[in-house]
Amino acid sequence: MRAQVLLPKVFNFSFTYNTNQKKLRLGDIVEVPFGKKREIGVIWPGKNLEIKKIKIKNIHKKIDKFSLKENLIDYIRWFATYNMMPLGLVLKMVIGNGKNFFIKKDKDIDQNINISINSKFKLNEEQKNALNFLNLKNDKFDVSVLQGTTGSGKTLVYFERIKRIISEKKQALVLLPEIFLTNEFKSRFFDFFGFDPAIWHSKITPKNKRIIWKGIMNNKIKLVIGARSSLLLPFKNLGIIIVDEEHDTSYKQDEGVVYHARDMAVARASFEKIPIHLISSIPSLETFNNIQNKKFRHFKILKRYNNYPLPQTKIVNLNLKKIKNSFISEESIEIANKFLNKKEQVLFFINRRGYAPYLICKKCGFKQICSSCSMYLTFHKNKNKAICHHCLSERKISKKCSEGKICEFIMYGPGVEKIYEEVKKIFPSNKIEIFSSDYMKKKDQVNSLFSRISKNQVDILIGTQMISKGFNFPKLNCIIVVDADFSGRGYDLRTTEKNIQLYHQLSGRAGRFSSESLIVYQTLSPENITLNELIKNNSEEILKKELALRKKNLLPPFNRLLAIIVSANLQSLSFDGAREIKKHLEKISDIEILGPVDSPLLKIKNKYRSRLLIRFKEKNFKQKQISNLLNTLKISNKIKLTVDVDPVNFG
Ligand SMILES: [Zn+2]
Ligand SMILES: [Zn+2]
Repeated sequence: MRAQVLLPKVFNFSFTYNTNQKKLRLGDIVEVPFGKKREIGVIWPGKNLEIKKIKIKNIHKKIDKFSLKENLIDYIRWFATYNMMPLGLVLKMVIGNGKNFFIKKDKDIDQNINISINSKFKLNEEQKNALNFLNLKNDKFDVSVLQGTTGSGKTLVYFERIKRIISEKKQALVLLPEIFLTNEFKSRFFDFFGFDPAIWHSKITPKNKRIIWKGIMNNKIKLVIGARSSLLLPFKNLGIIIVDEEHDTSYKQDEGVVYHARDMAVARASFEKIPIHLISSIPSLETFNNIQNKKFRHFKILKRYNNYPLPQTKIVNLNLKKIKNSFISEESIEIANKFLNKKEQVLFFINRRGYAPYLICKKCGFKQICSSCSMYLTFHKNKNKAICHHCLSERKISKKCSEGKICEFIMYGPGVEKIYEEVKKIFPSNKIEIFSSDYMKKKDQVNSLFSRISKNQVDILIGTQMISKGFNFPKLNCIIVVDADFSGRGYDLRTTEKNIQLYHQLSGRAGRFSSESLIVYQTLSPENITLNELIKNNSEEILKKELALRKKNLLPPFNRLLAIIVSANLQSLSFDGAREIKKHLEKISDIEILGPVDSPLLKIKNKYRSRLLIRFKEKNFKQKQISNLLNTLKISNKIKLTVDVDPVNFG
C-alpha cells in the first residue's frame, strides 16, 4: 500500500512511501526514512503517484496516540495557500521539527481543573450583559467583538467565558500581541482559575515546548496563553479562541513566515467550527468594517469597571512657549507637581527609544546613518553608542568626518533617555524610572520595576510605547505626552489608526482608581484633526472617516493587497528583477500591479529593496494563481523574493 507523507520541511509537496500498516489514517504521525535520517511526518491527503524509477521506502512506524485532526489538515492547506508559503513550513509551525516525538521522558503538565470560585471576582451589570452576549453562540463558528474602554473589565468577562468552555472539557486559546504581556497575564490567570496556564511563545525552552505540544494533543492542557505562533498548535479539542488587543499591529508577523495572526485565528476558528472573540478598546479598521457590515457581532462596554471616568485632557501648544533646550513646558511642570504633591504617580510619554534620534554635525552637516540600512542612527547614552533600530548594529561615534575634519555632533530631537535627564533636573528630589524595552531586557528587571511601581516607590515614570500595553498602575493619574505628533511617516497607511489606538490605550493607563486624572498633550500641531477627535473621545468618527478614505483610494479592507519585495545587493538588480517579474504577472487577469518602486526603506541589512504591490478584489482569491506563476519563473539567485499578503508596513 502507498501513502503520502508531509514532512515539516521547506517542501510544498508530500512524499510517497510504502506501508504494510492497514490502520494508517490521514493525520497520523509517522516516522519515515528520509535521506540518511529518520524524520517525523504526517499522513497527508493526495494522489499516490506511480513512481517507477525511484525506490519507494517503507514507513518505519506509526507514533501512537498522536494524530492531526482532519480540520487541522484542511486549515494547514488553506493557510499555506493564503499566505503563499510551503506546506511543509506550515506543518513545522504545527508540530515543530518532529524531534519532540522521539523524547519520551518528559513529565506531563496536567492542568488539574478545579476552578476555584474566587468571590473577589464579581461581574457588574454591564459585564454580565457582555458575557450573555458572548455565550449566545457556543458551539459554532461565530466572530464577536467585545469592545470596552481600557479599564472596563473586558478580561474578567472573557475569563468567565473560558471557564465555561473548560467546564465543557474543551480547550481554550488566548492570543496576546506581545511576549512580555504573557508573564504579566499569567498571575491574573492564576488568581482567577487557580491553575497556571501553559505559556507559548518563541522564547520558551525546547523542553517546555515539547511538554506543551504533547499536553495539547492529548487534551491534558486546557488553557494556553500565547503569542502569534500559538494559533497553529495542534489542539485536540479546541473550544474557543480569544484575541486580546486585536487591533495591535504586532499580530502581523513581518519577518520569516509572514502572516497576520488575528486574521489567521479567525480562519482557524472557522475550520474548527468554534466561536472566536476579538477584544479591543478601539477595533482595527478591518474589524470596525466587519462590525459595520454585520459580519462580526459587537458588544460595547461603556463604563469603566469601577465607574471612574477616563482622564480629562489638555493640549499644551508648544509653539507658544519659547523654551530653550527644554522639551517640557512650564505648564506641564506645574501640572505634574500638583499630582506629585498628592503622592500620585506621573508618566512622561515619549515614543522614541534611546537618547536622540538624529546625530548631525553642526560644522559639515554630516548625518550618522547606518552603513547597511537607509536609516538614521539613534544615539543611546546608556551604551554610549549609535544604534541602528533596524539591523541592531552599533557604532562608536567617531569625531572625524569623511573629510578628516573634527566634527561636532549635535543631538537632534528627544528620546526617552534625554527626557529622563531633563525630568531629573526638573524634579531632583523625586524617584524616577525609565520604562522602555532597552531597560527591561531581563525578566527580573521587569518584575522588580513592577513591584516598585505598585508599592509606590516610584514617583515619575518615563515611558515609551511599551507602557501603553495592558499594564495596571493604580497610582498613576497624570500622563504628559512630550511630543504628540500625528503626522506620521508618509508610507504608513495606518498612521491615523495606530495613533488613536496608541493614545487611547495610553490614556487608559491613568486614573484606574481615581476620579481625578489627566492626560496632557504637548504638541506643535494643536489644530490636528485626529488629536481633536481623540480628545472628544470620538474614535468612531475617525474610523468612519478613515474607512471612507480607504474606499475612495481602493485600499484594504475594500481591496486586497499583496506585496512582493525583491531584494538584492545592487539597486539595479532588485529593480530590474521586480520589473521582470511584473511582466510575467501581467498575464494574470483581474489583478492590478503597482510599481516597481524603491521601498521607502531602500536598504536594509545591505540589501536594496524594490517593491511590487498587487491589488485585487477580495472575493477573487488570487494567491494560488500568483504562487503558481512565481513557481514557474526562473529567478536569478542574485535576487530574493519575499511575499507579504495583506501587508501592514510599507517600509
Ligand atoms: Zn542598520
Ligand atoms: Zn563634520
